[in-house]
Amino acid sequence: MNKTPNLAQGRPYLAIPGPSVIPDAVLQAMHRAAPNIYAGELVEMMPGLTADLKRIARTAHHVAMYTGNGHAAWEASLANVIQPGDKVLVPATGRFGIGWSECARLQGAEVEVLDFGKQSPMDMEKIADALRADKAHEIKAVLAVHVDTSTSIRNDIAALRGVLDAEGHPALLMADCIASLGCDIFEMDAWGVDVMVTGCQKGLMVPPGMSFVFFNDKAEAARAKLPRVSWYWDWTPRAHAEEFFQYHAGTAPTHHLYGLRTALDMIHAEGVEQVWARHATLARAVWAACEAWSTGGSFAMNVSDRAHRSNAVTSLRLQSPNATALRDFVERQLGLTLGIGLGMAPPGDPSWHGFFRLGHMGHVNGHMIMGMLGGIEAGLRGLGVDHGAGALDAAADVIGGNA
Ligand SMILES: *Cc1c(COP(=O)(O)O)cnc(C)c1O
Repeated sequence: MNKTPNLAQGRPYLAIPGPSVIPDAVLQAMHRAAPNIYAGELVEMMPGLTADLKRIARTAHHVAMYTGNGHAAWEASLANVIQPGDKVLVPATGRFGIGWSECARLQGAEVEVLDFGKQSPMDMEKIADALRADKAHEIKAVLAVHVDTSTSIRNDIAALRGVLDAEGHPALLMADCIASLGCDIFEMDAWGVDVMVTGCQKGLMVPPGMSFVFFNDKAEAARAKLPRVSWYWDWTPRAHAEEFFQYHAGTAPTHHLYGLRTALDMIHAEGVEQVWARHATLARAVWAACEAWSTGGSFAMNVSDRAHRSNAVTSLRLQSPNATALRDFVERQLGLTLGIGLGMAPPGDPSWHGFFRLGHMGHVNGHMIMGMLGGIEAGLRGLGVDHGAGALDAAADVIGGNA
């Protein structure tokens, strides 16, 4: 025996922040002959899907379904509330906030970005200043990413509602919950969110390909004032999913709908609040390990304050040897895939290799998180990376209920 045999054979673990791990039950639900799209089970399934999606978003209002990923939901949400020349305000805390702002700009909006950088949450004072400066109330919408998956910063959306209310500003509050839905606590109606977008491949545990735009009556009234709305993105017919796939939007994403049905059954069987609590505890285990690793060498967490960290994703730095070396090692040698850094440094710039992310969203449990963290510890040791000790002990204390 000259060296460690390759240990990657066996079930691979994709621990990236989307797409997330797909439950076997979801895959099995999708493995079927093509169903009739005009009558029968698939059509009858639709009202239950919309009701169960709304229970996760904690809204009594409307949801429109799209055959498209999160970028499609970005585009759809804007197509229903702004027209060229309208102003939008984007308080950005990472690549995804910037991305939604670019989407708005390309739809003709006049975009004001408040860039809060990559390590701190939205500064509510600065947002209040921007709203106060808009005396004519030209800003039609505030586009806020709840959890920015690039930085893993979680923003306080309820506080943002408070700022809009305190300033008496009528702009729509639009939230991107693509990373956070089903992982971090989110209350659409209680927090006064007018429009929320999400995708199916993160907390909702379905392969990428569907997305959802939730909207309330205030947003619907803004939609009604537009002179025209794109035929495809219009949310009005899509809010009646039981008919729209047959008459308005072309072929339904048949197998995704079956997968979604099973995923929603799993979430509601566990209970949305219990799903949040599971993610919160698993995230605390991840943080405990990462905080321990950060006490030595070049390992560092991107977000220092626990109150602003996401329960779905953790953004990290490792410079020597860099994160790319660690990701390559654990993937090749252990069958564990970690997420690349996103938006923290330009691709092509050597510092890009110093960033990586852990996905802990959706179908993950205690042994998987211990396995992911154990895999990272093995990688750090295998590569001889200088790092703080005690990470696995700290995580085990959280998972074991001792922390
Ligand atoms: C993943 C993600 C997106 C983009 O979703 P896609 O399905 O990749 O288009 C947008 N915003 C956030 C916060 C995300 O996590």
